[in-house]
Amino acid sequence: MKTRAGLFRAVGEPLEVVELDLAEPGPDDVVVRIVAAGICGTDLHQVKGEWQRPTPMVLGHEGAGIVEHVGDAVDSVRVGDEVVLSWAPSCGTCADCARARPAACVPLHRAIGNGTLVDGTTGMSLDGATVYRGTATGAWAEHVVVSSQVALPTHGAVPLRDAALLGCAALTGVGAVLFAARATPGGVALVIGAGGVGQFVVQGARLAGAEAIVVVDPVEARREQVLRLGATHAVHPDDLKETMAWVSPEGADYGFDAVGYPETTVTALRFTRSGGTTVMVGLPPTGLRLDLDPGEFLRREKFLTGTMYGSEDPAVALPILLEHVAAGRLELAPLLGEVFSLDAIDDAVQASLELPAGRVLIEP
Ligand SMILES: [Zn+2]
Ligand SMILES: [Zn+2]
Repeated sequence: MKTRAGLFRAVGEPLEVVELDLAEPGPDDVVVRIVAAGICGTDLHQVKGEWQRPTPMVLGHEGAGIVEHVGDAVDSVRVGDEVVLSWAPSCGTCADCARARPAACVPLHRAIGNGTLVDGTTGMSLDGATVYRGTATGAWAEHVVVSSQVALPTHGAVPLRDAALLGCAALTGVGAVLFAARATPGGVALVIGAGGVGQFVVQGARLAGAEAIVVVDPVEARREQVLRLGATHAVHPDDLKETMAWVSPEGADYGFDAVGYPETTVTALRFTRSGGTTVMVGLPPTGLRLDLDPGEFLRREKFLTGTMYGSEDPAVALPILLEHVAAGRLELAPLLGEVFSLDAIDDAVQASLELPAGRVLIEP
């Protein structure tokens, strides 16, 4: 079968819409018609050349759509079901898969680095040449063929446009608080970065009953956005030290780096209190290293950890998030930004690079 998709060829070149050949779905696969797909920081790493991955590639890993075909062995979803795509079609047999962390699966991450699925294939080609898959998904397309394992049913609980956000930003951001930090009520949370993931970290902190949520971001529109979502303070980086001095002079109970640069991780750790937990949420550009003061861990007994996709199996976490949405505790629609057609994929990427307050979406 064929599909139209937005193709990324090289840094600095506009993305182009092409018609690709898709491999026939196998017995465990499903074909999903993408209704909405977000642009995530991970996609932008690739577009900006901060990650070296094979091209040409179909990016996009935050998608929602409708199942149009199921393989003979699939019983988890049916044709017509509305689904959110998880970007973790893991191997199913490694130690991380065994501990129910498909997103930490080492063979999966090797595959993502190679622009393929775990079996080394991509299932996509153009004029007979391999087209690579962004984050084992490739959702900036009209149709994708994916393992049924990653087509997670929403049971029509949310409009698909809103549901797209669940596929990466929400699972990652909310999971960072609930499942990685395991935040308990009454704490002070510090969130570095108020982009899509940061906005969900803020909501996660609110769900966890944080007493104060301090957010740092240089972009004013993003600061205004997080104040609407439950942040108690939203400040420019220049004002962080002063703000923390009066909100919580000992530091935050939980510090979240939703950006992923070494400086932002160090800042989150520095403003986390003794014995508190800092969580790395945003992904860093390839090759960067952290320069950390051992005293943060020895004298001050802090914990530094990371989270991959919210530190929970997406199939387990998604129903929890949907419950929060249904109860009005987790907002999706207010986080949406500009919506572009697939044909305007390059405009969508450019809009996203300008750090808007709302998540940019593509509707194929
Ligand atoms: Zn993402
Ligand atoms: Zn695995």
